[in-house]
Amino acid sequence: EKIIHHVISGKNCFVMMPTGGGKSLCYQIPALNLNGTAIVISPLIALMQDQVNALKQVGVNAAAINSSMSFTQITEVIDLVRSGEIKLLYVAPERLVMEEFLNLLSNIKISLFAIDEAHCVSQWGHDFRPVYTQLTILAEKFPNVPRIALTATADEPTRKDILTKLNLQNDEIFTAGFDRPNINYSITLRQNNKKQLLDFINNNHKKDSGIVYCLSRKKVEETAQWLKEEGFNAFAYHAGMNPEIRKSNQDTFLNEDNVIMVATIAFGMGIDKPDVRFVAHLNTPKSIESYYQETGRAGRDGLPANAWMCYGLADVTMQRNFIEESMADENQKRIERQKLSYLLGLCEATSCRRQILLKYFGDNCQPCNNCDTCLTKPEVFDATIAAQKAISCVYRTEQRFGVAYLIDVLLGVENDRIQNFRHDQLSVYNIGKEFSRPEWQSIFRQLVAMDFLRVDVAGHGGIKITGSGRDFLREKTLIQMRKYSGKTKEKGVSRTKMSKISLELEGDEENELFAKLKAKRLEIAKEQKVPPYLVFHDKTLFEMIKVKPKSLEDMKQISGVGEAKIKSYGECFLEILA
Ligand code: ZN
Repeated sequence: EKIIHHVISGKNCFVMMPTGGGKSLCYQIPALNLNGTAIVISPLIALMQDQVNALKQVGVNAAAINSSMSFTQITEVIDLVRSGEIKLLYVAPERLVMEEFLNLLSNIKISLFAIDEAHCVSQWGHDFRPVYTQLTILAEKFPNVPRIALTATADEPTRKDILTKLNLQNDEIFTAGFDRPNINYSITLRQNNKKQLLDFINNNHKKDSGIVYCLSRKKVEETAQWLKEEGFNAFAYHAGMNPEIRKSNQDTFLNEDNVIMVATIAFGMGIDKPDVRFVAHLNTPKSIESYYQETGRAGRDGLPANAWMCYGLADVTMQRNFIEESMADENQKRIERQKLSYLLGLCEATSCRRQILLKYFGDNCQPCNNCDTCLTKPEVFDATIAAQKAISCVYRTEQRFGVAYLIDVLLGVENDRIQNFRHDQLSVYNIGKEFSRPEWQSIFRQLVAMDFLRVDVAGHGGIKITGSGRDFLREKTLIQMRKYSGKTKEKGVSRTKMSKISLELEGDEENELFAKLKAKRLEIAKEQKVPPYLVFHDKTLFEMIKVKPKSLEDMKQISGVGEAKIKSYGECFLEILA
């Protein structure tokens, strides 16, 4: 409400709000209140189309201009814009900066500019789009039109960049809480990837829609195929696929129930599907921002959802490789390495995951009781001596070897390699018998997470000691580590546990009714060529079942049912309910 009033009063602002927090309303409502056309800058066609469809469903005159449209279609929209009939016009930044388009804008009444996914303006952000930096033109050419920049994900450097690049330094910043309380977070060590994923899905999401993220295209294909063989309705999505198949897989995911999408990070931006019940990561993403944005695609309808991730040190090495091999300059590489180590810190955390996530975005909360570390407190131990031994071993072997070799030395393994290097003569040889190999692996991972050790990718994956690692050796501070446990429990949140915010269906009758309402919704959606959730959300259908409206007047009390929807769908849903 504050933001809406602020924008209506003609002022600029920057808005940070989590996915599903109502970002779009912050410019859509002002757009309806103000005279003229609101110009919404959006990076993706799918995103534009979805918003335009949703606005049309509630009776708003909205349109998009993008490269998927024919010349005639574009001309038609431009005519409508000229005549002042369009309240919201969605365009890509590439279109906006074209001379011709700027001329059009100079000749119409503009109510406001909304810059969606504003983090694309920053090269510190994780979806840098160079053309976004040209949006400085808005402040120069249209100084009297209010500008509202919005994002769901931006750490401190990204935030600063957005403010400078969009010329909003002296304007108000609105930050909504970043918490997504309905999402349960759990992160588990990789042991048997497939079995772990299967257990997770079978225990929690047998009949749900979800997204499984993998790092490589090959793994996407394999995993989708394998899930199919396991009887799931799974599809693949990555940038290397035939575009038609990819599009059809995406449509299936959007328009049908109980579909699992196995994808690279190419999938998801602009996916507004509200009933994604889980997001699973088979590999770690490159930063906490990416993780938070990807997991944020779960549970947008506010009902319970799970974010589950499986990780190992190999992921970190691979992500480090991407960074080192990229064309970025040294400064940016340094930032990216730092981001990666924060993420590893999250994986190895022994305290509430949500607290760590929120702290990263400058927000905070109490221990949440809805993440794996809160629900099953990890056992910790005094790891001071173990850490000293591990780091000394790295030092004595001259910071050239990988974790496997270092553990060999600590465990006193007899082999040619160790003898050739005469490492069996070192004081650290055979001093680590109190831990098993997996336990040492866990200790090394945590030392990397604590930034005492670092994987040196340029030097073929050797482990190096960092400045804080050297400080630790000198000062001998006490440290605690998560105790390694051989078993992992692939548990998400149980549905009943979160019943206070979920609307559970009870009994056959309610379930049958739900199925009937869903079938009607699908029929309407197919007729209108829009995803079913644009007709009504699951949550709205649930509420209809619980409230049992008897008239159109009753129906209005249900959330998600406005004037336009009553008019279009009220009667036929009442009939089914009756
Ligand atoms: Zn927690």
